[in-house]
Amino acid sequence: MNVDVAIIGGGPAGLGAALEAKKMTSSVLVIERDRELGGILNQCIHNGFGLHEFKEELTGPEYAGRFIQQAKEANIDFMLNTMVLHVDEKKHIVAVSEEGVHHIRAKAVVFAMGCRERTAGAIAMNGYRPAGVMTAGMAQRMMNMEGLQVGKEVVIYGSGDIGLIMARRMTLEGAKVKAVVEIMPFSSGLNRNIAQCLEDYEIPLLLHHKIVRVHGKNRVEAVDICALDEQGKEIPKTKETVSCDTLLLSIGLIPENELSEQAGVVLDKITKGAVVSEDMQTEISGIFACGNVLHVHDIVDFVTAESRIAGASAARYALGNREKEEFYATHAGEGVRYVLPQKIHKEGKHTLKLSFRTDGIYHREKVIVKCGDKILARKAMNVMVPSEMVIISLDKEQIGKINGDVSVYLEGKA
Ligand SMILES: Cc1cc2nc3c(=O)[nH]c(=O)nc-3n(C[C@H](O)[C@H](O)[C@H](O)COP(=O)(O)OP(=O)(O)OC[C@H]3O[C@@H](n4cnc5c(N)ncnc54)[C@H](O)[C@@H]3O)c2cc1C
Repeated sequence: MNVDVAIIGGGPAGLGAALEAKKMTSSVLVIERDRELGGILNQCIHNGFGLHEFKEELTGPEYAGRFIQQAKEANIDFMLNTMVLHVDEKKHIVAVSEEGVHHIRAKAVVFAMGCRERTAGAIAMNGYRPAGVMTAGMAQRMMNMEGLQVGKEVVIYGSGDIGLIMARRMTLEGAKVKAVVEIMPFSSGLNRNIAQCLEDYEIPLLLHHKIVRVHGKNRVEAVDICALDEQGKEIPKTKETVSCDTLLLSIGLIPENELSEQAGVVLDKITKGAVVSEDMQTEISGIFACGNVLHVHDIVDFVTAESRIAGASAARYALGNREKEEFYATHAGEGVRYVLPQKIHKEGKHTLKLSFRTDGIYHREKVIVKCGDKILARKAMNVMVPSEMVIISLDKEQIGKINGDVSVYLEGKA
């Protein structure tokens, strides 16, 4: 099969990219391994989605549903229950479904495979890994999609958004959530989720604490929780055993980049996603990336905005409209962990959004975007936390001033 644009993944990123590409070419194919479109949103039955995109608060399935509807109306082609196994730099895709093996040749490919959760193997905890230890996303899927009760006495390790959401969800389903334990001195979840999912239900958040042992061989029976000192060392006298039958892990997300690596896409050491230019093109010509496979997003609306750029760029590429491959780099300066995109075309850019996360919590700081000795943008921020992505949009005039590498840093830190 030959297509102009093939999109791998039918979550919000894949759907956003497909809709935008379809405006420019009729030949767009979305390949999704799951039985339905919508990605991770199908299991996120809480609300809080779509505030930027639709100016209303939707649940995950409602948000996804709007894009699925639009995609159907636009007659976009889908292959469901189809897993992509391989993509090469020539954009030759190998996928498998119940019908057999499919070979698809695309002029441009958009990677939109999302991310997966880190599991118990990724962290050091003494004890066994008995039944009852699972990722928060797995528990969410079991409860919200399969209708199963996961446990009655719960401890959650990691204060990422999925853990926070599941603390509330388990409570609403009648479980007792005894604590959310976070190794860092700050939560890695959104502030609104801490308020709405923990504080409203009086669930304790133990910051700078660690789970040091899991008790139980066949099923979890308890965990040992210990406070950490300033150097991150355990304070033995604070050790407490908390009984539980379930330990949910919310200890981070990793972009699903196996296909990207196979294709030879260069990955960023910090984001663990592809290195891209402002049109979302990776280092492999004609392969684009967007959404959680590119960098883990806090808010799905930003995924949609980014995927539109990827979809349009992929369609332009497929139609033969290529830009000169000459770039300036972007750099993360003081206080900033990473900046995306990592590269900016020297010519031809009309819009530029710089997304970044800080390396700590900052109050009343100014973000500076600089090129050489020219300040392109300065934005005052009341508060910045690592869990929340910051986006700075540059207008045409600011973009016109770029004649070298661009750095983003916090003024008070430099
Ligand atoms: C528990 C949880 C709660 C959240 N809460 C909020 C919230 O309240 N508000 C908010 O705005 N955002 C929230 N988010 C974030 C938001 O859901 C994500 O940012 C968004 O879903 C990412 O979209 P995506 O398309 O990149 O990835 P996904 O939604 O993960 O979609 C990726 C798709 O690619 C498919 N795929 C992967 N590999 C292959 C392959 N090899 N072949 C074929 N298909 C493949 C997957 O099956 C999946 O359908 C939450 C996320 C989670 C996990």
